Parts: sequence; C-alpha cells; structure tokens
Amino acid sequence: MAQPARDFTEKLEMVKSLLTASTMSVAFTGAGVSTLSGIPDFRSSKGVYSSKWQGYDVEEVLSISFFRRRPDLFYRWGNEFMYQLEQSTPSIIHTLLAVLEEKGYLHGLFTQNIDMLHTKAGSKKCWEIHGSAKHHSCTNCNAHYPYEQIAPIVRKGEVPHCTKCQAVIRPDIVFYGESLDASVLTRAVEMFTASKLCIVLGSSLVVQPAASLPSYALSHGAKLVIVNAQSTTYDSAAAVRFTDLAEVGEALLPWAEGLRKRTALVPSP
Ligand SMILES: [Zn+2]
Repeated sequence: MAQPARDFTEKLEMVKSLLTASTMSVAFTGAGVSTLSGIPDFRSSKGVYSSKWQGYDVEEVLSISFFRRRPDLFYRWGNEFMYQLEQSTPSIIHTLLAVLEEKGYLHGLFTQNIDMLHTKAGSKKCWEIHGSAKHHSCTNCNAHYPYEQIAPIVRKGEVPHCTKCQAVIRPDIVFYGESLDASVLTRAVEMFTASKLCIVLGSSLVVQPAASLPSYALSHGAKLVIVNAQSTTYDSAAAVRFTDLAEVGEALLPWAEGLRKRTALVPSP
C-alpha cells in the first residue's frame, strides 16, 4: 500500500536520525532483498517459483537427504536457480547497506540469502546464516572448491566431483535437515543483543533465527526498523515501518553517500 508522501518523508527523517544517533546498528536481510536483484524467492512457499520443480517440492530438493540420494537432480535444479548468480547485480538495498558500513553507520549484517550479493556490493561485516554458493566442499575429504570452479561444471549438466577422491562435491549452504552454523548464530545473538538499532529488510521474520533475533534487540531497548512488503509479527514493536524496499533504498542511498565517514565508536566485533 502506498504511503502518503508526508508520512513517508517523516518516517525517512526518523530512520536517518536513528542511524546517525546509533552507536551499534545491525541489519538483517531476507529473500525480498534478492528479489530486487531478480533472484526468485525459491525457499518461500509464497515465492514466484512455489510450484513444484520436476514434480518435487523445492523444500525437498533443498533437503540434505535428497541431495545425498539425488545429487544429479539437485544440481539440475541448481543450474536453474543457483549457478547463474554472476548474472545478478546488487540491488539498491545491497548498495545502501555496503555504503552505510563503509561510512561507519552499520556494524553488522546478517542475511538469509545465499547469493553472495552483499559481498559483491562491498559489505565486509556480513554473515550468511544459510551459507552461500561461494564455497563448496567434497562430501568425503572436505577439499574446498570455489563457486567459479563448480558453476561451469553444473552448467554443463554434470555433477561436480572431487579431483582428489572423486566423491560428490556439495555447496556449503545449509540444507533443510541441517543445523545452522553455531558460531554464526552466537555472533548474531551477541550483536543483536548489543545493538541500539536493528533494521530488518525483505524478511517476514517467520523462520528461525529471523523470528527471534529482533527480540534480542528489543529486550535491550534497541529501536527496530522494518522494511518488508508483507506484515511481520514485530510490526507493532517497530519504531518505523515501511513496505517498499526499492522506495526506501532510492530515498536513503543519496543521503548515505553524502554522510561524513564516522570513525569507529565501538570496537570491531
Ligand atoms: Zn574429496
């Protein structure tokens, strides 16, 4: 729903003052930020590609048991959705967050997305809680392989195999049925708990850990800003609430680019 112009401007000013006043700001991004870059929200049941793929639910294709059973089918799915990522470019939100970090106004970024677009945009203090397609490893000897080496094999319609032991290679993403990286989760809880400002972009905050991270911030008095098309359970707790990611990005990016670089007010985590 479109916001009345004055209301939008007022809310923007609030976000700007929150960002400049906060000494510890964290952001959390979900699939909505990637869809701005043309990447389908393939994990969501409400996503564009929610219909079955070759007769399988996407949740099944992305489960560890399916990958172990049918790596060939996983990589055929991946050829359509995961191994064309070099064609995607960062959206205005990816760029905005990278600029805010570079200027010293964003101290940590956690994302559910596996598409590497935050790092492509220049974000450095970025933690990918579901892993990313950047790293791959051998399911037997754990030898590491970069995306650039694996993607051409997948695009030829082949399953990548380890050059050392011939076992199947897997992407270092968190499949359904696997646990999240405990060290990343610990870092997220620490940073959200210490934050003064928490900005959620493009996530409906339904699945864990997204569903609980804002509560760590709120319980210690942090302000919450939510930018998401759909409603979330935290909307009533948000100091500022927007629905249109692109509109917010376009309004904030020129402002962020004009900010004076701030020296670190808190030690780097
Ligand atoms: Zn191997």
